[in-house]
Amino acid sequence: MQLRVRALETVLAEKGYLDPAALDQIIEAYETKIGPHNGARIVAKAWTDPAFKHRLLQDATEAVRALGHESRVGDHLTAVENTREVHNIVVCTLCSCYPWEMLGLPPVWYKSAPYRSRTVKDPRGVLADFGVTLPKDTEVRVWDSTAETRYLVLPMRPGGTEGWSEEKLAELVNRDSMIGTGLASQPGKAS
Ligand code: FE
Repeated sequence: MQLRVRALETVLAEKGYLDPAALDQIIEAYETKIGPHNGARIVAKAWTDPAFKHRLLQDATEAVRALGHESRVGDHLTAVENTREVHNIVVCTLCSCYPWEMLGLPPVWYKSAPYRSRTVKDPRGVLADFGVTLPKDTEVRVWDSTAETRYLVLPMRPGGTEGWSEEKLAELVNRDSMIGTGLASQPGKAS
């Protein structure tokens, strides 16, 4: 796949359809400026601002737009909340749809065939591979992304963070916790 992508990129650049420097800038922006910091800030705000959390769960596209984040044309963002009762996990069974504006570039495993097929059949097994074990009575819900609808998981706020600022809380919100393959980091263990 890497060779195929490189071959395609070379042909497009040679024909002048694509500027490699512009491509590098786009990738750099998604890697370092956008994701997953945008998502982490949204989650931290939802943890500290009940009115915002309500708006986010009602209509995430509108809620993040109010903070100045524009979705790509046609994208609709849906936020799903993790609780003690329900754990949400996101997959794109068809390809690799992913909330780029919130999380940046998707990890390689998100696009892999095993993740895409197993998450539907055996979500608890996938979670175990990621080192996540949930209580037996927690329901696991799997959400299938599409070109029109992207999902952002609102992870549970870790204990021992009472009174923390949004900035400090955002450091606990890692990428996987917003896909549902991980939990928010515990205080003192922020990655
Ligand atoms: Fe997709």
